[in-house]
Amino acid sequence: MDSSIIQGISTFRGSVFPGQRQMYRRLVRDGQQPKALIIACADSRVSPEHITQAGPGELFVCRNAGNIVPPFSQMNGGVSSAIEYAVVALGVRDIVVCGHSDCGAMKGLMQPGALDAMPNVAAWLRHSHAADRIVCEAYPADLGPTERLRALALENVVAQLAHLRTHPSVAAALAKGRLALHGWFFEIETGALLAYDGSAFVTLADDGVLPVAHAPAPRRAAGDGMLPVAVA
Ligand SMILES: [Zn+2]
Repeated sequence: MDSSIIQGISTFRGSVFPGQRQMYRRLVRDGQQPKALIIACADSRVSPEHITQAGPGELFVCRNAGNIVPPFSQMNGGVSSAIEYAVVALGVRDIVVCGHSDCGAMKGLMQPGALDAMPNVAAWLRHSHAADRIVCEAYPADLGPTERLRALALENVVAQLAHLRTHPSVAAALAKGRLALHGWFFEIETGALLAYDGSAFVTLADDGVLPVAHAPAPRRAAGDGMLPVAVA
């Protein structure tokens, strides 16, 4: 183990935790009430807590290679469970899918041969194939590798937002108007955060309102007068 990690644990226990003891005790006494679920890439340079300056108890975080959300019916695993727990048990009102620049998972998607020794990563990335096809077929054919990587990472966030809506807990919370979905893209080299407004990504202004990918809007497909009246 790298000595810096061991030193970090020692510093936390020796000088950080004593000053935050009351906060941690309060979090145990009252339980966690995170403000949002953030699904981000496992990339070590993309820390949701750091980007949002959130402390313990403030974010429910789920990270994996490529910030992927498998569609509900295809795979029940860690991501599905985290979503269900956050929505049903914790009642989060916002879910964020956060992609980023220079993403290794997206690079792997662009060069499938590079994943020969990583069959699990290759299989996992099939959940991003829709994004890959969109970039291949709907974007200009002469796109350079840098532009293509960026387009892929942005489209991947949108594809995962679509997968998110296939989860029953999310679908129900959206229909009740109790949940908003957000798509973010963190640019590591500049610190900029882009947000999806439902049709395109826009740069977040310092004093601006956060664009929402899917705003809370209660709806019922079976509207007034569309349900059969029970016959006595
Ligand atoms: Zn990544």
